[in-house]
Amino acid sequence: MGKKTQLANPTSERKSLLLIYTGGTIGMIKDARTGQLKPFDFNRLLDEVPELHKFDLDIDSHAFDTPIDSSDMHPAIWLQLAHLIGFHYDAYDGFVILHGSDTMAFTASALSFLLENLGKPVVLTGSQLPIGTIRTDGKENLITAIEIAAASKNGKPLVPEVCVYFEYRLYRGNRTHKFNAEHFRAFQSPNYPLLAEAGIHLNYNEAAIATAPTKKLRVHTTLDPRVAVLKLFPGITPEVVDAMLGIKGLQALVLETFGSGNATTEAWFVDALEKAIKRGLLILNITQCAAGRVEQGRYQTSSQLKKIGVVGGSDMTTEAALSKLMFVLATTADKRKIPVVLRKSLRGEMTV
Ligand code: ASP
Repeated sequence: MGKKTQLANPTSERKSLLLIYTGGTIGMIKDARTGQLKPFDFNRLLDEVPELHKFDLDIDSHAFDTPIDSSDMHPAIWLQLAHLIGFHYDAYDGFVILHGSDTMAFTASALSFLLENLGKPVVLTGSQLPIGTIRTDGKENLITAIEIAAASKNGKPLVPEVCVYFEYRLYRGNRTHKFNAEHFRAFQSPNYPLLAEAGIHLNYNEAAIATAPTKKLRVHTTLDPRVAVLKLFPGITPEVVDAMLGIKGLQALVLETFGSGNATTEAWFVDALEKAIKRGLLILNITQCAAGRVEQGRYQTSSQLKKIGVVGGSDMTTEAALSKLMFVLATTADKRKIPVVLRKSLRGEMTV
């Protein structure tokens, strides 16, 4: 994966960052023939941001050989990114990942689980308009993301966690959700406060930022992709539910329920879920609401789920729930312990 470019002259005292370019709108151009946006070469992207050379930082870059639209993102690439960060971890003070906004929250969530005991910033950013366009939001996003990744206090990184920076706001990565396909403010973190806000000053919300771990970084190398998401809707039929629960090899299902974790009380539905759980399928209940959390047992329509062994996912986003399942399935040897692990907050991804 990719080639390295050096953007500044190294001196030993200066902070150093690794800028990883995966693709996304930030580095796209309009195809002259079709008018569609497609990824272009990383060095041309850097030409658009001469400001990068003004930083008193050593910035190396690593570009994917073939930049991708983030709709083509895949767990295998999350593993490659985690490996890349682990491989270069000691050599850099922080990492910035340029990534399409469409699946940025998934990648940020997955990386938060894969990089256990992370003690340095990993900041994902991108843009809604390509960096070469006059009104691009990409420049500010990139420049401030770099500043955040290099920020320290008393010699320690200010934000030692995986985060997303977009449109003047810094979010915890695994609390983030893309909610707007058009506005520059494309992300929100409905259940967790901002980690920082950029105005004239960069104001860090230190109380909300993770404390640096005392243990050494551990980069996990496996994920189990045998998971799926089922979003409930009024009128959902046994055919739809059975088709999902019957997927060959499926290990876990994210169930997107109504409100605080509620689902239809129809007997066929509860029976189907109960049978699947008895067969060994894990079912994790999260809400389809943008904010708030699942409280199984608050209503009759959720206490039945609790009774049959559906695991309550509190206020996790779909992105965090899905990647947490992939991670926990791959890393928990004793399958009976998985529900217990899922109920814990592993990387600040949920309120417990
Ligand atoms: N389709 C693009 C992507 O996710 C959108 C973006 O970058 O904002 O790669």
